[in-house]
Amino acid sequence: MVLFAAQCGDQKRLTDRETRQLSLFETTDEPALAETPSAAPVESAPDLPPSPEAPLLPAPPRVDGGAPREGDSPSGAGVTPENRPAQIEIVRTACLKCTACDLSSTRTQVVFGEGSIQSPLVIIGEGPGEQEDATGRPFVGRAGMLLDQALRENGILRQHVWITNVLKCRACLVEGRRKQNRPPRVEEVAACRRWLEQELKILSPLVILCLGGPAASWVIHPDFRITRERGQWFSTSWASIALATLHPAYVLRQVGEAYDAARATLVQDIGAARQKAIELKNLKNLKDPKKRAPALT
Ligand code: SF4
Repeated sequence: MVLFAAQCGDQKRLTDRETRQLSLFETTDEPALAETPSAAPVESAPDLPPSPEAPLLPAPPRVDGGAPREGDSPSGAGVTPENRPAQIEIVRTACLKCTACDLSSTRTQVVFGEGSIQSPLVIIGEGPGEQEDATGRPFVGRAGMLLDQALRENGILRQHVWITNVLKCRACLVEGRRKQNRPPRVEEVAACRRWLEQELKILSPLVILCLGGPAASWVIHPDFRITRERGQWFSTSWASIALATLHPAYVLRQVGEAYDAARATLVQDIGAARQKAIELKNLKNLKDPKKRAPALT
């Protein structure tokens, strides 16, 4: 059997083994919340972190390495595969009306996560840029197009994973009719924390892939340094395991050989996250008598 993963006119021929592995990311029993994006090219640049540390977000408000606070429920108590779509929809609906910080007055739209709520892999970026603010969807600018390409090169389509951000509204300066991206403030990140926490509790992913340093600081530990810790696996309260890689916007800022190397790193790390998600899902299925089936290798 051969499957063609086609998107945006780009086709990748998958082997039988890859096809069986890809099925682990497919949502046969629950629908994805959003359709595959058109990934239309855009004029403006996305949020472009100036370095691999991508210090767009200031020091995260928490200093406990992502450990749950009192009252947190990282286990997603009460969430079942059956009620997960309804639960995420409740959170999404509430988030779209959020006015908990000043960004509500400058945003066009809230940008909530989207993709497969059944996926073992969740990808987390920093925050929406101009195109995301305009469309209400995460990673649809140039960085999103690169992310889509890197996913496809690993046999994954966007709708097979959940893609979201630490911050749900665009952080920008308003100068007349112009808006310019700016780093979010500590209080904005703190106010927005509730939404990603709720997303992760409901989704309960096996693997989280952080795009850029700020997302890794949120998920893994506050002092995370991409240059030092990229590509390493970490335990986290929000998933079985987490990995951080370069933000696609950072990759886009590179030129020549540096671009090629950064892009290859992004693709490689997505591949590692995919493989880990498959391994962990196989393990989980083996422990579940209802889902026990031959493991994929
Ligand atoms: S950035 Fe987050 S906390 Fe602030 S208004 Fe938007 S959704 Fe609410």
